Amino acid sequence: MTAPSALETASTADVPAEAELTDGYHLVVDALKLNDVDTIYGVVGIPITDLARLAQAQGIRYIGFRHESNAGHAAAAAGYLTKRPGVALTVSAPGFLNGLVALANATTNCFPMVQISGSSERHLVDLKQGDYEEMDQLAAAQPFVKAAYRVSRVEDIGRGIARALRTAISGRPGGVYLDIPAAVLGSIMDAEEGAKTLSRLVDPAPRQLPAPEAVDRAIEILAGARRPLVVLGKGAAYAQADERIREFIESTGIPYVPMSMAKGLLPDNHPQSAATARSLALRKADVVVLLGARLNWLLNHGEAPQWNPDAKFIQVDIEPKELDSNQPIAAPLVGDIESVLEVLAERTKPGQITAPTAWREELAARSAQNVAKMAERLKADPHPMQFMGALKAVRDVVHERPETYIVNEGANALDIARNVIDMQVPRHRLDSGTWGVMGIGMGYAIAAAVETGAPVVAVEGDSAFGFSGMELETICRYKLPVVTVIMNNGGVYRGDDINPLETDPSPTTLMLQARHDLMIEAFGGKGYRATTPAEVTAALTEALASGGPALIDCAIDPSAGTESGHIAHLNPKGITVGNITPAKK
Ligand code: ADP
Repeated sequence: MTAPSALETASTADVPAEAELTDGYHLVVDALKLNDVDTIYGVVGIPITDLARLAQAQGIRYIGFRHESNAGHAAAAAGYLTKRPGVALTVSAPGFLNGLVALANATTNCFPMVQISGSSERHLVDLKQGDYEEMDQLAAAQPFVKAAYRVSRVEDIGRGIARALRTAISGRPGGVYLDIPAAVLGSIMDAEEGAKTLSRLVDPAPRQLPAPEAVDRAIEILAGARRPLVVLGKGAAYAQADERIREFIESTGIPYVPMSMAKGLLPDNHPQSAATARSLALRKADVVVLLGARLNWLLNHGEAPQWNPDAKFIQVDIEPKELDSNQPIAAPLVGDIESVLEVLAERTKPGQITAPTAWREELAARSAQNVAKMAERLKADPHPMQFMGALKAVRDVVHERPETYIVNEGANALDIARNVIDMQVPRHRLDSGTWGVMGIGMGYAIAAAVETGAPVVAVEGDSAFGFSGMELETICRYKLPVVTVIMNNGGVYRGDDINPLETDPSPTTLMLQARHDLMIEAFGGKGYRATTPAEVTAALTEALASGGPALIDCAIDPSAGTESGHIAHLNPKGITVGNITPAKK
């Protein structure tokens, strides 16, 4: 079924015959262009097909996906990478709901994104008369997003888009839903009047400066610290305040721990990085500066025994509601990171904040020990191939190409790659993020390639890859420089679980012999099968040199990996943990 064209659905009742006309489709595209939206990620269908066509014809790049969730994840990643809202476009009801997963994920991760969905006839939806793809999408979106808006009149399109973009990008960034009913898209109005309804945002994400007394409070606490620590989160990466952050870290000498997506903000081999002495750093730090990082589950909520129970927290965040959410914050610094660090630098007296040498040396010694242990583990080259072996090969190849973006999801594939693959440049690692979600892989990879033109290596667990695998076709259709590397151990977590009844495969079993490399060949990409680290190295080197779409299926030992990776403790503890234990009668 094809969508009715703009003119077929138009109502021209109120417009004089001689006037030059515009319609909802044109006004949406004009409003987006006026606000510098240059790319839309979406899936077409009723009622937005002509919108995608028109956007493309008017010079906005349209990237068409196979599933809205993946288009949405791409828009979210685009928002994170560019600091401008990524835009996703979906059809009504089911398409809208598919996209909503990504929009909610963007909100959770604080990525700026706008999902625009077409919707069915309002009067039919509101009386539940059973329209095509009937759903009250505005109400459905509301609980999952930063804000949800609906445009009900064609003359409000400009305002609706401006409002959606500003809401997504200002303050704490997040996902915004914009509902545009089909009838509004098809409405016609005088072109001159229509142009007057559009506006370009002035200062879309205004700076937010902290109060001087708040900064002085933080300086005083830091000046008295004996074991200070900075935690860099993805909010710090997003802020694009790279120079300021480097200056703050290096001028104070404070050791830092990067959260996974903040890796590369300073190169992972930086002498002040305590990433490889993380447990010790958290356990002993007496003053902790949270720079765009939340004290959520990823940081054990700031609780002992992982943290020093007497630690004082200084939290730099643009969102005041975040403060005190888990631990009391001794010095809240509400503002954008660039501004906060600027004021902090201005108000700090020379030499006032310095990290004591004994503390730096203690962490450096632990780091050296841990690095040596890791080097030993990486040296081993057992057969069948283990995660470590395959990922060390990936690490060595991308180390030579620091411009490469890394996308990473899975359980063991995520945990091990995060530790093994060093990052050297800011914002070059995109992963499962705050929810620990699976399914972001191909969407994030496509966005990274589209937005930057740089090569992308997506390191995927075989299970995680399945959520977005059909987008290999999208990668091939747009000829994107994305190399997907699959850690194929034939299972969710691992591939050797057994169903004691031997009826069906166990819940965590996938096909061990699956040839993901053949999938990409179906779409004209290059597939490789690797059974040793040397084969991974050769395949990845060749694939990156070719600049085209490729997939490397790494045959990993099915008994490699642990259940739930590093977060097994989050599984509820009953009497049947892991393999089945019969309950006592
Ligand atoms: P991580 O998972 O890496 O620890 P989080 O996503 O938990 O990071 O935290 C990111 C935090 O950064 C959020 O609380 C968000 O409000 C904040 N943030 C985002 N952008 C900025 C900015 N420009 N300045 C200050 N804080 C920011």
